[in-house]
Amino acid sequence: MKKYSSKINKIRSFALSLIFIGFVVMYGGIFFKNNPWLVLIFMSLGVLCIFASTAVYVWIGLLSTKAIVIECPSCQKHTKMLGRVDMCMYCNEPLTLDPTLEGKDFDESYNKKVRT
Ligand SMILES: [Zn+2]
Repeated sequence: MKKYSSKINKIRSFALSLIFIGFVVMYGGIFFKNNPWLVLIFMSLGVLCIFASTAVYVWIGLLSTKAIVIECPSCQKHTKMLGRVDMCMYCNEPLTLDPTLEGKDFDESYNKKVRT
């Protein structure tokens, strides 16, 4: 079985890894210090990754304002959910807003448009 985590958490870890990749790429430029052009390319790639990560963080911020805050039935904490189905940010309890999906196994495909 695949491991699911809350969408907001997923996007957050993606943004975090972008920052990490950015720094690694910039650090990688040091190995090419004999070639100023390569250093410049590595530096700009690194900065680009960090900018992209900032953009992703802004995007999470926007998504969070649209997310619905609900109380998790399992851990009683307030969690934010996106889409029809999502996971609790704290205990990974599957959550749904659609009563017809209640009790069914968690499936991320419920977020996609249902074919008729
Ligand atoms: Zn919970």
